[in-house]
Amino acid sequence: KPAANNLDAFFMPFTANRQFKKNPRLLAKAKGVHYWTPEGRKVIDGTAGLWCVNAGHGREEIKAAIVKQLEEMDYAPSFQMGHPKSFELAARHAAMLPGDLNHAFYCNSGSEAVDSALKIALAYQRARGQGTRTRLIGRERGYHGVGFGGISVGGMVNNRKWFGSLLPGVDHLPHTHDLKRNAFSRGEPEHGVELADELERIVGLHDASNIAAVIVEPCAGSTGFLPPPKGYLKRLREICDKHGILLIFDEVITGFGRLGASFAAEKFGVVPDLMTVAKGISNATVPMGGVFVRKHIYEGLMNGPDSAIDLFHGYTYSAHPLACAAASAVLDIYRDEGLFQRAAELSAYWEDGVHSLKGTGGITDIRNLGMAAGIDFESRKDAPGARGYDTFVKAFELGLMVRQAGDCIAMSPPLIIEKNQIDEIIDITGKAIKATA
Ligand code: PMP
Repeated sequence: KPAANNLDAFFMPFTANRQFKKNPRLLAKAKGVHYWTPEGRKVIDGTAGLWCVNAGHGREEIKAAIVKQLEEMDYAPSFQMGHPKSFELAARHAAMLPGDLNHAFYCNSGSEAVDSALKIALAYQRARGQGTRTRLIGRERGYHGVGFGGISVGGMVNNRKWFGSLLPGVDHLPHTHDLKRNAFSRGEPEHGVELADELERIVGLHDASNIAAVIVEPCAGSTGFLPPPKGYLKRLREICDKHGILLIFDEVITGFGRLGASFAAEKFGVVPDLMTVAKGISNATVPMGGVFVRKHIYEGLMNGPDSAIDLFHGYTYSAHPLACAAASAVLDIYRDEGLFQRAAELSAYWEDGVHSLKGTGGITDIRNLGMAAGIDFESRKDAPGARGYDTFVKAFELGLMVRQAGDCIAMSPPLIIEKNQIDEIIDITGKAIKATA
């Protein structure tokens, strides 16, 4: 029986899309920092899509690279075979990554990258003769995608509760969003070291010899943009080193310039053992994700007493030629236009802009770092999230795309944004928040 209309045939009854079905908002065209609706209404992209179109939309250089690759070779198997572009890309990534993060595994999304990283971490511990290290530690208000691994270590209870037993042996660090002490602080808030010391408490509960890895977003994104408090990441690194626990940074959002540095690892001077990326890796043209690992992880896997040589992992589309071609063209743009540096330079203007909204429509906190920000406001009585949704809708009506996270609006414009466009984003955001107060 045919569905009643096109939208009925579109099966997405999940919270990410349920409201869309009731009230579809369509995007039909994109260029630079703008989208256009099918009716031709222009909307400024305050979120770089989903924190991913860092170099702006419709980049001709990326298109040309994808088309050229399509003409040369559309696909190559990633099992027992390869193609030169994937090696070239890995070498380019290794050259720009901090420390000795110099081996790359490519996949197709952030969720795949996270699941891959967790598997690599567990396999590494076993390969080096530490097979009892099976426990994983995530963080409350962490978001690591929607794979089973990602929701297990992720810190969003709603994302877990439907799925019964997930990965066993997972603990969560407390989140770092301390409103009482840090509301409206600019950049990194205070009290990082004592918050990171919570990791010692968890290690004390289970004994380090049972713990494989800790995974955190250096700066939590999807749960409202929570910059790490000062000293937090460094202290996590110290505690992990002390106990032989691996540290994984999920840089799906923070990677490729968002914080005004190539990666958060570089910005904070903390090199994780594994790093996950996606989004900005391909400027969201062809789907792509990746895991970067340090030399000791690679060597431990290959040469440990219980070598993981029989470990099977990989996707049909790992290191897809189109994705590699796109990712390489994106790196050219980032380099030639100095976009990471540009983000760093613009971030003070951005900070002043978002903080100018203090005092508007019941705003309770404003957070920023690099070219991203989160703005919290008072919830409606008995309806958490309702005002956030209405604010997002209002902003869209007024010509701005923002991201809703509960009663919070998150923003992360493309890194090619101009100052007058930042002004426009701030202006519309203020109006939308006022309108829903
Ligand atoms: N990790 C982080 C930190 C993310 O922000 C996201 C996506 N927002 C993911 C993982 C999942 O990525 P994807 O949606 O590409 O699976």
